[in-house]
Amino acid sequence: MKTFQCPYCGVGCGLRIDEKGKIRGDPDHPANYGDLCKKPIYLPKVLDKGRIGRPLYREGEAFKEISWEEAYGILAEKLRFLDPDEVYFYISGQLLTEDIYVINKFVKGFLKTNNIDANSRLCMASAVTAYKLAFGSDGPPCTYEDINDADTFLFAGSNAAIAHPVLFKRVLKRRGSLIITIDPVETETAKRSDVFIQIRAGTDTAFFNSVLFVLYKEGWINFEFVEKYTEGFEEALKEAEKFPPEVASRICGVGKEEIYLVAEVFAKSKKLISFWCQGLNQSVNGTMKNLALINLHLATGRLNERGCPFSLTGQPNAMGGREVGYLSNGLPGYRDVRNPEDRKFIEEFWGVKGIKPKPGPTITEAVDLILEGKIRFLWVVCTNPAVSLPELGKVRKALEKVFLVVQDAYWNDTCEFANLILPASQVGEKEGVMTGSDRTVTFCEKFSKPYGESKPDWLIFTELARKMGGERLFPYRSSRDVFEEFKVSTKGRICDMSGLSYEGLPARWGRRWLYEDLRFPTESGKARFHPAKFEMPSESGGFILITGRLKNQWHTMTRTGKSEELLKGEVPPFVLMNPEDAKELGIEEGEEVVLSRGPYEVVRIVKFGNVKRRHIFSPFGYPREFGEPTNLLLPDRVDPLSKEPDLRYSGVRVRVSARRPL
Ligand code: SF4
Repeated sequence: MKTFQCPYCGVGCGLRIDEKGKIRGDPDHPANYGDLCKKPIYLPKVLDKGRIGRPLYREGEAFKEISWEEAYGILAEKLRFLDPDEVYFYISGQLLTEDIYVINKFVKGFLKTNNIDANSRLCMASAVTAYKLAFGSDGPPCTYEDINDADTFLFAGSNAAIAHPVLFKRVLKRRGSLIITIDPVETETAKRSDVFIQIRAGTDTAFFNSVLFVLYKEGWINFEFVEKYTEGFEEALKEAEKFPPEVASRICGVGKEEIYLVAEVFAKSKKLISFWCQGLNQSVNGTMKNLALINLHLATGRLNERGCPFSLTGQPNAMGGREVGYLSNGLPGYRDVRNPEDRKFIEEFWGVKGIKPKPGPTITEAVDLILEGKIRFLWVVCTNPAVSLPELGKVRKALEKVFLVVQDAYWNDTCEFANLILPASQVGEKEGVMTGSDRTVTFCEKFSKPYGESKPDWLIFTELARKMGGERLFPYRSSRDVFEEFKVSTKGRICDMSGLSYEGLPARWGRRWLYEDLRFPTESGKARFHPAKFEMPSESGGFILITGRLKNQWHTMTRTGKSEELLKGEVPPFVLMNPEDAKELGIEEGEEVVLSRGPYEVVRIVKFGNVKRRHIFSPFGYPREFGEPTNLLLPDRVDPLSKEPDLRYSGVRVRVSARRPL
């Protein structure tokens, strides 16, 4: 029997695999206490399907198998020849913490460039930015334990019933509690909620501002809390006053009474937890949406025993990536390259000099720099940008232009553009840790032999660094060596993991409530309100396309798509439409339609559902094997603070396909 963390969503369920390869939930794991959803059950069946077994290289059309020595030779030569600013690394929240730590050290400490970003940029960047602005640090303020005594749950822009199913089941177990869902689509989560507020996409900031306005007008502000533990209330209220319910209800397409209802539960419930995910984060207004919601918690004193704002992480180890600082501005232990003390500490810790003080470009900026010829080498690790980035037409041109290295366990769409492919081991074939949404760190045991010649990601970068003269910086012989070094870098930080050991996991870092004494790591020690500015993207096309996840598939389907059981009912690719909208266009359920934006077209089968009028929903993860990916239709507009792309609001046209239904 071996234990590990589920490699899919950020709930971070603990799993067990027995000698026969059967997977069950780990009854002793605090994230799930034995529960699990369907996705990981089929992991053993797909471990070896569609894998990359040897390094592959091509100069012309065809790939040829090469040795690791040859692959390292090619990489070392490229990296020595190119200026550090001409290279770029794009990594993943699905890697283990040890992998991420070594890659981050290789890029920021060894190559001396901050040209690195992770797919968390598409996922968590807005939540991280908002946490830092409001509380002075990243990190969710509470934990899953807080679900157990809460009586009110607000899900905003989160379809947790399918995207974080075990967490949602835990919420449902709180019988007699009130569940409110705010979403443009009547999702599984909305269907199982007591109240569904069908908001117009992109308008959450106006909605939450209006709730703050009502809280004030009704005398429901907790002024004792506000005065003692926060600052900036007046400025936030001034902004909120622009959105009285009669104004916000028009902007958001909701009833005034729905705004009052949310204000009332913030004022009167015993304990309120608000969960949110990509519906708030992936937006040009993403940071403001987060802040507007956090403002409501601060205004009503809903922290710790009275509630919590709780951002759900999308990926299994996005939290670990944040601890290691894998975005273009981060350093280990929730540090930042812009902070001279943080840089100095890590330079001394690593024994290097010259960490760059300026954050590198984000992944969407890097795509532009590739097209401008300024970045000439791109190394993608454990992610599939050819399907998951926005503005895919542009991304494809960039992937064709750059020298592309893909390091992955499975062959994916991005491999089609690669010059060099490196086979990586996956969870189960290597060991290391991951951190789930509530800061619980889990040790993942090895339970299978690495496929072919694949290697753990941390080892690939360690071996290359040694070939390039980095023996002193990369002395690691095992993932344990890496973890032992990393954890020391967090000592004394809010995410202090220095007391953890592989043997003692799972364990959570930080106290149950990160800000138990209501002292915050800001200059004044107080939490900060922020005026939440509302801005709508201007889009044309007739319909607003919203994207999201499939129930039994994970991201771009590279692993879950290989399971017949998990594919059932998920293909062919569909678009969810309001039947009234469909009727106006003469479209019937089951019919094929073309969604278009500019020169790009995507074909989908129509399903009817309760989607806000003039909105449509289509999942984002379909690889090219099933037709053009949805993200071909998404713009690469980003939030100005978090630089997270808006993957939830794209103006598209809809027309009946010339072809007949499948
Ligand atoms: Fe895995 Fe998430 Fe399902 Fe838990 S809820 S078993 S972490 S996919």
